[in-house]
Amino acid sequence: MGLGFDVHRLAAGRPLRLGGVEIPFDRGPVGHSDGDALLHAITDALLGAAGLGDIGGLFPDSDPRFAGADSRELLRQAHALVRGRGFEVEFIDAVIIAEAPRIAPYREAIVASIRSVLDLPRLSISVKGKSMEGLGAVGSGEAVACLATATVRHTGSSS
Ligand code: MG
Repeated sequence: MGLGFDVHRLAAGRPLRLGGVEIPFDRGPVGHSDGDALLHAITDALLGAAGLGDIGGLFPDSDPRFAGADSRELLRQAHALVRGRGFEVEFIDAVIIAEAPRIAPYREAIVASIRSVLDLPRLSISVKGKSMEGLGAVGSGEAVACLATATVRHTGSSS
């Protein structure tokens, strides 16, 4: 089992991408990559489950190669490393914590997007939205945060 967390500050006029899906909103994440906090949390959960460190170690934000990077590609690469260690993903559970926009209308598109990156069946991914009830930086809309867990199974073959 691996656990991932990420938070990104939001700024006006930037595209908001969560789980690889662009969501219409007047603010978006400030980040070195595309700032997709959900994919970053899932990437860290996968890496954690396989004992492979974290996203910042694999794709340092000091490295110009990852400026504006598509986080789907970072997740795909991390997943390949996890599989290389002999692990298969069993289940991903994730929470998007944001005051706005509401996540429910985009939930199925987000699930489909993550499935397409990881090639997982529908029942292997759960994504939920949660508000902060107005509390703190996330509650005031200054940031979006995400949590994810990944359950993996060791298949016995590792490269
Ligand atoms: Mg991040």
